[in-house]
Amino acid sequence: MNVFEKIREHEQVVFCNDETTGLRAIIAIHSTKLGPALGGCRMLPYKSEEEALEDVLRLSKGMTYKCAAADVDFGGGKAVIIGDPLKDKSPELFRAFGQFVESLNGRFYTGTDMGTTPDDFVHALKETNCIVGVDEAYGGSGDSSIPTAHGVIYGIQATNQFIWGTDELANKSYSIQGLGKVGYKVAEHLLEEGADLYVTDINQAAIDQLVAKAKELGAGIKVVSSEEIYSCPADVFIPCAMGGIINDDTIDQLQVKAIVGSANNQLLEVRHGKILHQKGILYAPDYIVNGGGLIQVADELYTPNKDRVLQKTRAIYTSLLDIYKQTADSEITTVEAANAFCEKRIDTRTRRNSFFSHMKRPKWAVRT
Ligand code: NAD
Repeated sequence: MNVFEKIREHEQVVFCNDETTGLRAIIAIHSTKLGPALGGCRMLPYKSEEEALEDVLRLSKGMTYKCAAADVDFGGGKAVIIGDPLKDKSPELFRAFGQFVESLNGRFYTGTDMGTTPDDFVHALKETNCIVGVDEAYGGSGDSSIPTAHGVIYGIQATNQFIWGTDELANKSYSIQGLGKVGYKVAEHLLEEGADLYVTDINQAAIDQLVAKAKELGAGIKVVSSEEIYSCPADVFIPCAMGGIINDDTIDQLQVKAIVGSANNQLLEVRHGKILHQKGILYAPDYIVNGGGLIQVADELYTPNKDRVLQKTRAIYTSLLDIYKQTADSEITTVEAANAFCEKRIDTRTRRNSFFSHMKRPKWAVRT
């Protein structure tokens, strides 16, 4: 493998090996231009080291854009632990991981992602302060799905404004895929606002709970199967489950005017963004819409303040509307416009940061 060719876009890649605990992890720092790198830590039984490296490089670059979009003073990073989260976890393994994070001396902050939980990072927290997203009892900001759900609602409002000239959520229909931590909160809010919903989930308990809520409110709700959700005659599709759901199989079934949801990597391939554009379906780039949770963990550098987090999350509305306006009557897709928006922000901030570079770096280095 030509390692330096592979990592040429990245600032630093750290391979972490601890014989005693069996820890094998990779930390990738894509960019610290906007601040220390921030990104969750995945634990997955990767088939090969190459696969783990590919994943951490791709995800850490994505975090650079996501941090720029969310306007937080962090750059992009990510970590992966190679192992089975059901079999290979131990408190010692996460303490060892915490020591590696600490060795980066404030260049990388991390927390939970696929295969890891806030409790795992309570162990890492014993070795380093560069941990975010643990429960409030341990000094973290707690459940990040609350600001994420708010961000999705702001994203829907911006979309309604752009298409129908109103922020109102009522008098529209929405199809929601996934009623988990984020999707359920979004669905509940839309019902309370008087919207009509089509919903699907593989978890019957979540469906039953939402249907009972709709009955209580006298609101319209239709439960559909996992396959039917794509062809529902709704105004807006809200994917809040898994990635890759906009693909060759589903794209022709869509009848909606827009897609706005929290799920990561909704487009299976970049070209699916182009096809949506050609079909006249407005696509809200997922990493712009789902930034609320990131805004909350980034805010942990200060004394936690939920009002401030919500205030910052509200900016998703204006960012998205600006992106939409750039794509109107043009060949540029919303994803291309979003990437350009982030690159411009990184470029502007980098020049400003370099102007101050002779000064001491601010408070993140001294977080206690
Ligand atoms: P979650 O695990 O709580 O909820 C996902 C829901 O989707 C579950 O209820 C699950 O039963 C359902 N589901 C799974 N497969 C399905 C299928 N085939 N059809 C229908 N439903 C299905 O996750 P979450 O925290 O609500 O996150 C939802 C999405 O948003 C994920 O893609 C996540 O990566 C992304 N996201 C979440 C946050 C956050 O703060 N939680 C932040 C950014 C992005």
